[in-house]
Amino acid sequence: MCMHISGPSRAIMSRLSLACAIAILAVLFSGSCLASRKLLVFLIDGFRYDYMDDLQNLPGFKEIMDNGVKVDYMTPDFPSLSYPNYYSLMTGSLPQASHNKLGEFWPISPDRAGVTESGRYCEVHQITGNYMWDQGSLKEFLIGINPDSRLPMWWDGSEPIWVTMQKLGKKVFMYYWPGCEVEILGVRPSFCEEYVYNPTERNLTDSIERALDGLRSGRADMAAVYYEKIDVEGHHYGPMSSQVKTAVQRLDIAFQVLNQKIKEKDLRDELNIIMFSDHGMTEIKWMEKVIELVTYINMSDVVKMMDRGPVVSLWPKQAKYEEVYRALSSVRNMNVYRRNQVPDRFHYKGGKFVSSLTLVADPGWFITESKSKLPFWQNSSSPEPQGWQHGWHGYDNEFVDMRGFFLAQGPDFKRNVRAAPIRAVDVYNLMCKTLGILPLPNNGSWSRVEYLLSGSVGLAWPSPLWALGLLALVLSLQA
Ligand code: ZN
Ligand code: ZN
Repeated sequence: MCMHISGPSRAIMSRLSLACAIAILAVLFSGSCLASRKLLVFLIDGFRYDYMDDLQNLPGFKEIMDNGVKVDYMTPDFPSLSYPNYYSLMTGSLPQASHNKLGEFWPISPDRAGVTESGRYCEVHQITGNYMWDQGSLKEFLIGINPDSRLPMWWDGSEPIWVTMQKLGKKVFMYYWPGCEVEILGVRPSFCEEYVYNPTERNLTDSIERALDGLRSGRADMAAVYYEKIDVEGHHYGPMSSQVKTAVQRLDIAFQVLNQKIKEKDLRDELNIIMFSDHGMTEIKWMEKVIELVTYINMSDVVKMMDRGPVVSLWPKQAKYEEVYRALSSVRNMNVYRRNQVPDRFHYKGGKFVSSLTLVADPGWFITESKSKLPFWQNSSSPEPQGWQHGWHGYDNEFVDMRGFFLAQGPDFKRNVRAAPIRAVDVYNLMCKTLGILPLPNNGSWSRVEYLLSGSVGLAWPSPLWALGLLALVLSLQA
């Protein structure tokens, strides 16, 4: 290719080589030379990292581990609640929302993004709770199916991977996934089976069948299935209960069916599967380890209180702020933080829906206005909910019981490998990688997950150095 050319031909040649290099860069950065395989994702709510320890009795999980990778645990984001982590797992932040300098959008930046302000920790993607309040509009976000929870204001802080996929012309099918019914940044997935409370095992197995068919037929490029049962049983009966054990065994049966269908449909070499939870679960002592706010403060001094349990958001009246803060500062088994005092490691205080006071309970403790306001559940034929809860989550995300799990199998993953822990914010990069799309800026660490991948996708992302080398080549050709 390298010939000695002079005069006008040389000028044409250097323009050609510049165009060629730009074309190569465009191809690299558009992702078309990345590994690009179909992906099936499972979000198993409230599945603690150690729920699958009894592998002898969980052949479905065991087969996935034998064929793929398992990390010791996955640390959730703070607060270790559902909605904040659903989004931390699935989003990269929008360039304009991430306060970063030009250049942070460089596609290789997963590692660098971990040390910048860009990303999708809760304070970046803005879903900082299962219950949120916007002081400006007085609108509320409430876990479940409250109409105001679908407003773009809660969701548009970051771009979920399914929105990025749809924007790229790829198709995503989602089953019971909270938020798939919401138009986010003007986009919805190609298919959304809307969330219902506690989808049944039948819902789960039907979703698996439909997801696999969609992926195999080419109607879907990615499918995502949500399952809530493990979390529900963990709350009602506690993480060590026989009910949780039974629910895990039933989930295992669904995964045995999944493994079987992958073989039947001949998808083993085409389809990557990633499964994870949003957080773990710890035992609580209902009526015993309870912090009743009415004991310490006058609730009429508070404009708004959101959520109860391990993390409570309080907006005291301005004139009463110091008084409320002082009164709560003396409460045992709980920390009260002014907004700027919330520990940096929570990556929380920068969120726009964060309250002026945040209360965080010690593990096992439960903060509520009063015992009468505890969230009992409907466990009997009585019209009033009377059931005691025995498990909860939301505590400090470094508390071991809050740890979730992560498993993956498929052509892009190593086989029969155990790996070191990862964090919820790391998962997004892996999904992007196997799907062959460029990750948006995010807080994940590429070095924490790179090891999980088999060699076939190792060269997929061009590094800045690599690109600089290419530019140097262009310049030398032009010289
Ligand atoms: Zn959850
Ligand atoms: Zn839960």
